[in-house]
Amino acid sequence: MPADAGLLVRFWGTRGSLPKAADSAMLQDKLQAALRQAAGRRFDDDDAIERFIRDELPFPVSHTFGGNSPCVQIAAGDDEELICDMGSGARELGNRILAERGSPRTYHILMSHVHWDHIMGFPFFVPAFIPGNTIHIYGCHPGLEEAFRRQHGPPSFPVPFDALGADIRFHVMPAGETLDIAGFRVRSHLQLHGGDSYGYRIERGGKSVIYSTDSEHKHEDEAALADVAAFFRDADLVIFDAMYSLADTASVKEDWGHSSNIMGVELCHRARARHLCMFHHEPVNDDATLYRLLQETRRYEEISRRDHPLHVTSAYDGLEIRL
Ligand SMILES: [Zn+2]
Ligand SMILES: [Zn+2]
Repeated sequence: MPADAGLLVRFWGTRGSLPKAADSAMLQDKLQAALRQAAGRRFDDDDAIERFIRDELPFPVSHTFGGNSPCVQIAAGDDEELICDMGSGARELGNRILAERGSPRTYHILMSHVHWDHIMGFPFFVPAFIPGNTIHIYGCHPGLEEAFRRQHGPPSFPVPFDALGADIRFHVMPAGETLDIAGFRVRSHLQLHGGDSYGYRIERGGKSVIYSTDSEHKHEDEAALADVAAFFRDADLVIFDAMYSLADTASVKEDWGHSSNIMGVELCHRARARHLCMFHHEPVNDDATLYRLLQETRRYEEISRRDHPLHVTSAYDGLEIRL
């Protein structure tokens, strides 16, 4: 990637609370739908098949949302990067970086909070096992280091934290401060969530990404909404906890610490952000449901828009967004 290429955001884990494996029933449904649509068609070569899959199959047939729990890589053109959270997606991310760039290497990891779905990938993050690597882990929770050490402790995991080969350093940051991390400007923001969570505004080269997961927003708390909108202000991309529907957040799942697609649109409109990416998908929701939610969110965005269009997407493992 050339130095002026902006930012590349890669999603390695997008499911909330618990990873969700694709199962045989799901695959069979997709195959059936694909074959039904291909009936009577003739494909002369693999390229024609690839084009059919890419251009003609509905998204929930050709893709799957979620899978791994949260892990997002934000890379800059000069080979520097930040990693947001260490959910189960971190395993594949670590393997990819090792394969492409080898060791020794320095990693910078921002932690929203230390709930299990956000740290469970670390014991399988292979760079942590390799001497010569340095891993900086940043967060605002005083118990940051203890949470990582505890999941390596017996009887939960066979490799004690102190046996890891990399030089691992924890940095507890004061909430609300702006820091320079690996050439990125990073500001944290306290969020409403069980045990607290922190959102991050990440800026570099005139581009801005908000990573805001595991956060509840109350419709009636105008001061808090204005505060969040200011934090999101003019962002190029907002990665947003849209785990629930509006109906969920207003009823049974109120106070569960997560937000909705509708709240994501409202906050992004207010902040004049450019792109909302729905994230931390509810494990109960299958691909068809998540796709329907995306379409409903886009319709809501259209009818509630004032003068500033907002692009809406839904994150899936493997999605790349260039800014
Ligand atoms: Zn979570
Ligand atoms: Zn959480």
